[in-house]
Amino acid sequence: SAPLVIVGAGQAAAQAIASLRTEGFSGDIVLLGDEPYLPYQRPPLSKAYLGDELSEDRLELKAPKFYTDSAVALRLGTRVARLDLAGKAVELEDGTRQPYATLLLATGTRARDLPVPGATLSGVHSIRSIDDVKRFRAETRPGARLVIIGGGYIGLEVAAKANKLGLDVTLVEGQPRLLARVACATISAFARDLQEGHGVSILTGMGVARLTGSDRVTGVELTDGRHLPADIVLSAVGALPNAELAAEAGLALDNGIKVDAQARASAPDVYAIGDVASFPSTLYGRRVRLESVQNAIDQAKAAAKAITGSAVTYDPVPWFWSDQYDVKLQIAGLLDGFTRTECEGDVAAGRFCVRYFDRDRLIAVCSINDPKSHMLARRALAAPAPQATPSPV
Ligand code: FAD
Repeated sequence: SAPLVIVGAGQAAAQAIASLRTEGFSGDIVLLGDEPYLPYQRPPLSKAYLGDELSEDRLELKAPKFYTDSAVALRLGTRVARLDLAGKAVELEDGTRQPYATLLLATGTRARDLPVPGATLSGVHSIRSIDDVKRFRAETRPGARLVIIGGGYIGLEVAAKANKLGLDVTLVEGQPRLLARVACATISAFARDLQEGHGVSILTGMGVARLTGSDRVTGVELTDGRHLPADIVLSAVGALPNAELAAEAGLALDNGIKVDAQARASAPDVYAIGDVASFPSTLYGRRVRLESVQNAIDQAKAAAKAITGSAVTYDPVPWFWSDQYDVKLQIAGLLDGFTRTECEGDVAAGRFCVRYFDRDRLIAVCSINDPKSHMLARRALAAPAPQATPSPV
């Protein structure tokens, strides 16, 4: 019979293979990935690998032997061009068809294009893959002027590593503060002080009008008319789900591929996991799409269970981390919709946590160099909500 076919060879795919075999799945597995690499970890791309502190082979999520032992047919450097859901097959770029019995979509996200003139000049980078880092590192040298556009996690992590590599770094953020989408003002201010303390210039509430240069980038023109000279530009303005294959095939979308709590997409025998999938969160009372290792791993496990007939409900407490200089930031939960915060610890000493509440309900905790509060937070958030005490009649 036809194999289980996985499209996209990243974090979620590697976990799905491991979990399928653990759950006793004995059918054939074909892994199709457009990058030439075995599934690898992306977090170090803006951290240790960028800083030359981790070699390329250490990025691999599983050693080559894992795929042989798991009897996986690996087809790397192969891009899937089309899904034929009615015919239960995927079509590769060269036109060949790969039939499937079960299809697992794990195509991840890609860097969002910078929506300004000059975005395609040489010397303008984004970081999503090993090859992106190789191209970026080929141009970094001490003293080079790097302008980073976007003050989210990736922008800030790259700022820290580039600063350490001796580049002259300026970061431009359109929102009034750093990490505006994902953290509160206390964390944003801390992140800013941290960067500025190391000599990175930060401009917030500042738009980019265009990138200058005729072939290679020479600078960044800001919306207030100022011009920042640049030898290299990094665009770090977020990611978009690689959901086009699914869209063209008619699968339901909702901020990525729409799946249920067992990672099932809207067609029979089709599942989607990881960055590309949005799922219903009971915990947060809405559909969420997460871009994190936690989600790629745990949703892959849930899909493997559903495929092997022991379905569970995927309703995680999301968690995430970021490393900048000697600071480890960890977030448990999602902090959208918080009505108040409590801060505990010593902000000046760089060891504290912020708890986020929606009225009285704890919804998230952000910890700075405080792994213990992070672990406690994950436990507290996972605990079932206390039942309302019945009022006496
Ligand atoms: P990916 O790992 O992105 O894999 C998807 C794969 O599918 C890619 O190789 C892609 O090229 C391939 N693909 C797409 N379309 C096709 C097609 N048509 N045919 C064939 N192949 C295709 N998360 C954290 O929790 N903590 C962190 O500190 C952190 N840091 C990060 C730093 C960086 C620089 C980046 C880029 C990400 C970071 N993340 C972090 C996020 C984390 O890496 C992702 O959430 C995770 O990789 C998602 O796994 P995935 O399998 O869904 O997608």
